[in-house]
Amino acid sequence: MDILQKVLSLCKRRGLVIQSAEIYGGAKSLYDFGHLGFLIKENIKEFWKQSLLFSDESIFFIDGSILLPFPVFKASGHIDCFTDPLVDCKECKIRFRPDKVEKELGELKCPSCGSKNISDPRLFNLMFRTTLGPVDQLEEILTFVLQNSSKSKEEILKDLQEQILKSSVFLRPETAQNIFCQFMNLTKSYPRKLPFGIAQIGRAFRNEITTEKFLFRVAEFEQMELEFFVKSQDENFYFDYWLDKRVTWWKKIINSDSNLRIREYSQNELAHYAKRCCDIEFKFPWGFDEVEGVASRSDYDLLAHARASGKDFFVLESSEQRGGQVKIVPWVIEPSCGLTRAFLAVILDAYSEEPGVDAEGQEKVRTVMKLKPFLAPYKAAVFPLVKNEELIKLSKLIHDELKRRRLYSCVEENQSIGKRYAKHDEIGTPFCITVDFNSLKDESVTVRDRDSTEQVRCHWKEAVDNVVSLCQMPA
Ligand SMILES: [Zn+2]
Repeated sequence: MDILQKVLSLCKRRGLVIQSAEIYGGAKSLYDFGHLGFLIKENIKEFWKQSLLFSDESIFFIDGSILLPFPVFKASGHIDCFTDPLVDCKECKIRFRPDKVEKELGELKCPSCGSKNISDPRLFNLMFRTTLGPVDQLEEILTFVLQNSSKSKEEILKDLQEQILKSSVFLRPETAQNIFCQFMNLTKSYPRKLPFGIAQIGRAFRNEITTEKFLFRVAEFEQMELEFFVKSQDENFYFDYWLDKRVTWWKKIINSDSNLRIREYSQNELAHYAKRCCDIEFKFPWGFDEVEGVASRSDYDLLAHARASGKDFFVLESSEQRGGQVKIVPWVIEPSCGLTRAFLAVILDAYSEEPGVDAEGQEKVRTVMKLKPFLAPYKAAVFPLVKNEELIKLSKLIHDELKRRRLYSCVEENQSIGKRYAKHDEIGTPFCITVDFNSLKDESVTVRDRDSTEQVRCHWKEAVDNVVSLCQMPA
């Protein structure tokens, strides 16, 4: 079994991540996060949030709406350009991307049935579309078709598509557009002195036909995006600044630096408005692949919305030459991190199989999630050695102290100590604290380290202090 399969089955077994609607066969490319998966994801999110809130730069946050109307994506270019070319197999009726299948002597072949009877490619938009308000789109469509029945099928389709698009709302395919659209409203309440950033964590949606690789490419995902506004002459400096900051951030959530690399876009890969772009890539089981993009987007986005809305987009900067203040349109550096991908990278990087022994002393593989302690869902698990009232009482006292110190932890009293260790190794709990009969005499406990399996004996209060300090979120 390859590592992706192993991690996927661990995620399901321990309730980290489960395919959505699994009882109905599962929805392709949709996943639900269970308790432990949610906690890991929230810890990554919190680390990103804190890295910006407590940084040296002025960063403000926004939590924008997921649904946005047509004009936003017309202006941003998503209506016209955010498309995949798709073809239909005329035999078995499946739809696929012609650039993703093998060709036979230059001819397209259906990946499902092998037929060469394939339609011409058509462009399909990757955005999910819906309506706002009590609109019955089927009724609208039928009325339109009946009224235009004298036209050709192609004409009706074209006109109808245009009409539907204009009255639709879309699930945003990236979080950035809320920030650009609201730029003038948001900056009213900020000290508008360049440079400053507007950041957002939120869901985005893409109707991808190619769905694969567990959480890597999913229809619904979370992003953590920063739009950092600068004077145009400072663009290069802040591009390097943010690329460096973001790589440093990644190195704090990933154990092995060799699992990370930077890939700079070549000139012909860049969007026409982009000046520079680098991907931060993680070494997935299928090779290095993107987890974050850092892009220099010039003044493209703000000007696009200024043009389309007829509104003025600017910040005021003092000018020595002219005296007083001048309006300038800031440029933007965008570090855009995929939170769902970050979660996948973190658990793949942490997943480890090591030689170990089971409860009976037999050799067996030990599966360990070597999560950074601050990312682990439980920071500690407290085990009463056996089910004994006094041992359970002291265990709960330790648990209460961990809670009081705001460290998420649990008391685990069922099963053998070996099985309890195995479970907490698999879900990444960095420390297991065992309470035995000696503990009742001198308040000492055994603390086991997840990664080394080394055990130390100390006073339970010292154990709590150590867990608290070792699980701190790094600065
Ligand atoms: Zn076919």
